[in-house]
Amino acid sequence: MSTWEEKYAARAVRMRASEIRELLKLLDQPHIISFAGGIPDPALFPNDSFREAYENVLSGEGAGAALQYSVSEGYLPLRAWLVDHMGSLGVPCAPENVMIVSGSQQALDYLGKLFLSPGDTALVARPTYLGALQAFNAYEPRYDRLAPEGNNMTPQAYRDAAEKAGGRVALAYLTPEFSNPTGETIDRAARERLLDLTDELDIPLIEDAAYQALRYDGDPVPPILALDVERSGGIDNTRTIYCGTFSKTLSPGLRMGWICGAAPVIRKLVLMKQASDLHSPTINQAVMHDVALRHYDSHTAMLRDAYRRRRDLLLQALERHMPEGTSWTKPEGGMFIWVTLPEGMDGGALLARAIETEHVAFVPGQAFHADGSGANTIRLSFSLADETAAEEGMTRLGRLIRREASGR
Ligand code: PMP
Repeated sequence: MSTWEEKYAARAVRMRASEIRELLKLLDQPHIISFAGGIPDPALFPNDSFREAYENVLSGEGAGAALQYSVSEGYLPLRAWLVDHMGSLGVPCAPENVMIVSGSQQALDYLGKLFLSPGDTALVARPTYLGALQAFNAYEPRYDRLAPEGNNMTPQAYRDAAEKAGGRVALAYLTPEFSNPTGETIDRAARERLLDLTDELDIPLIEDAAYQALRYDGDPVPPILALDVERSGGIDNTRTIYCGTFSKTLSPGLRMGWICGAAPVIRKLVLMKQASDLHSPTINQAVMHDVALRHYDSHTAMLRDAYRRRRDLLLQALERHMPEGTSWTKPEGGMFIWVTLPEGMDGGALLARAIETEHVAFVPGQAFHADGSGANTIRLSFSLADETAAEEGMTRLGRLIRREASGR
């Protein structure tokens, strides 16, 4: 028999385990201080609220329904809660504009499947969320650079480049707030410019709002979808497709996210969900509704206080321990700080050395770049780092960078 590799469809070629992910598997060891995993702190999960909610859902009259198949759009009371939630963010909408997905990762997969034909161009920032590249890769796009803060190419230049590559410009994707990996946020004017660009290109704009609720300071900026509703006159005229998630606020383990957008595109995505997994787990949707209804506001307020403190501790530790030639972002929210290493230093090589000699870990930045650039950057996550970890971790990392920079 020939190898399995030879039997796979072309779309599977780019599905590879990354060396970095393999390396990061080693990090569970207690002597390693890790800033690698971009995950919520499990100590902050609302365990009791979930326990109560499962009890409520399973002991009431709705228990049968909660364990039954349900509609692909998602549990209506949860969608109604999300309609209110989106309304509070400046996005007036109705239940037909909202569908439930199994984490916003599923949204990214579906949106890739819906919009990308092989050879089409996806516009993404450099760096951008690695999971979005992985989701889109299955649909065999080429990538071109979106510069959220400005300096974009002209629409015609994007179009020409896409056509030369044998496809069309099919979508733009970005995380406008507290991005993974940089922690940066783009301001209102930049959001308006992105809408101008996607209007001129006449393409969908995918707004990944995974960290939206985790703002620690600074003024809130309206979601791009809200600005789009304002300029287009109503959600059903918009081109922005908003991907939200409960993963960073209530629980990632329940795998629950949502898509909010124009009704026609939601209807199409619902058909896709039907063909893919029928629906997200009914009981989890009912439980998420129960917890969101009663605890979302107070719980997210608590999280903001806890993570704000961790961000501040890591920023202060960076200030104390990083050598000259190193710079970093100062995010207003989210979970990440993006560090630019002294010129010529490679984040991947540094990680190997960091694990071996200083027992400290992070994610090298190159993986977040669709074109393989960004070798001298790294991502630090502060979501799990207490005061001791921040201080000791940055002492070790600073020492290592200093040593590497001096060539020893
Ligand atoms: N988008 C971004 C920017 C993320 O960081 C993540 C999680 N790492 C996701 C989407 C996916 O999250 P989930 O599927 O848990 O909603």
